[in-house]
Amino acid sequence: MKNVFPNYKRYPIELVEGKGTNVKDAQGKTYLDFTSGIAVCNLGHVPDSVKTVVEAQLNKIWHTSNLYESSLEEEVAAKIAQNEAYQVFFCNSGTEANEAAIKLARKYTHKEKIISFTQSFHGRTFGSMSATGQSKIKKGFGKLVPGFEFATFNENSALEQIDEDTAAVFIELVQGEGGVNVADPTWVQAIQAKCEETGALLIVDEIQTGIGRTGTRYAFEQYAISPDMYTLAKGLANGFPIGAMIGKNKLAEAFGPGSHGSTFGGNKIALAAAKQVLTEIDQPAFLEELNIKAADFKKQLTALVKGLPGSEVRGKGFLLGIELPGPADEVIAACRENGLLVLSAGPNVLRILPPLTATEEEIAAALAILNDALLEKWMIQEG
Ligand SMILES: *Cc1c(COP(=O)(O)O)cnc(C)c1O
Repeated sequence: MKNVFPNYKRYPIELVEGKGTNVKDAQGKTYLDFTSGIAVCNLGHVPDSVKTVVEAQLNKIWHTSNLYESSLEEEVAAKIAQNEAYQVFFCNSGTEANEAAIKLARKYTHKEKIISFTQSFHGRTFGSMSATGQSKIKKGFGKLVPGFEFATFNENSALEQIDEDTAAVFIELVQGEGGVNVADPTWVQAIQAKCEETGALLIVDEIQTGIGRTGTRYAFEQYAISPDMYTLAKGLANGFPIGAMIGKNKLAEAFGPGSHGSTFGGNKIALAAAKQVLTEIDQPAFLEELNIKAADFKKQLTALVKGLPGSEVRGKGFLLGIELPGPADEVIAACRENGLLVLSAGPNVLRILPPLTATEEEIAAALAILNDALLEKWMIQEG
């Protein structure tokens, strides 16, 4: 790749075809994709139902700009909000959704201080990057956006940092990039209480955890909280670029005409896909089945790594991580050799993100490959 910036470390294969959980590389080798394109293809690759609605929309109109009404936008927004008192702003990526949340929080509260957490990841643009609690993401880019402060994830000391000057608290309920760290519900509820007390807005970054990934439509449903805002992207349109910032009705006054915008936001191809994705996630059997498969998968993974010193299986639903006693890279390479694609989340954490539609047979096959890569190769290398 001579004319493409080397800003990604790429694995040495090119995926050229996909269907469901299966992908094929340019050499014709097939793999089980337990990355879902980083939590994007939640319904698997090229699902027929999404393909059909996208094809239909392709034949109608693609883009109209936000100068005109859009009933498709209204329909998808209503589905996203699930009849709750929320409004939606559409954009094209996760970082844009978080930028919108940061801007709205400051404009609504007339305050600047935003608190986020150690090991968090919120995106690569200046605002979202400034909110990210990992120095490796921010190194070399000069002065960041002022006003961001970091608190320790899952620690009560965070509560003391939230005060009358705080515009918002930004949180992932399961930190995806930062190591698959699950927030403690009691702690999150205390954060919400402190936000209510001080007038700070609680913003949940659901970009990786949302759209069924953790076993509920949104992860916050499992925390008995009511965020002032939440953000979506990755899985929302199953592979078409989209982002969404969702905020309570009261916030609308600060986002009046001209206050914020995006040329591509509300793109009709992406929205057609999103509408279908949400319809499928909302079938009652869909998440029920996912939760059964996920509980079983986690149990088997836990049994699998039992012999590895210091190892731990973490996560919710199909956002799972295995803390390994050493580098995840070797395990990832061994899995890939044997036809299974998995990811990392930091140096020693293996991250596993199957499509939510992965079957029990596919999970069993993945476990067998992981078993070989993890236990046999790893333990042999460990001597
Ligand atoms: C991926 C991710 C983002 C950034 O999304 P982009 O679409 O890459 O901008 C932000 N927050 C979380 C939690 C993510 O996982």
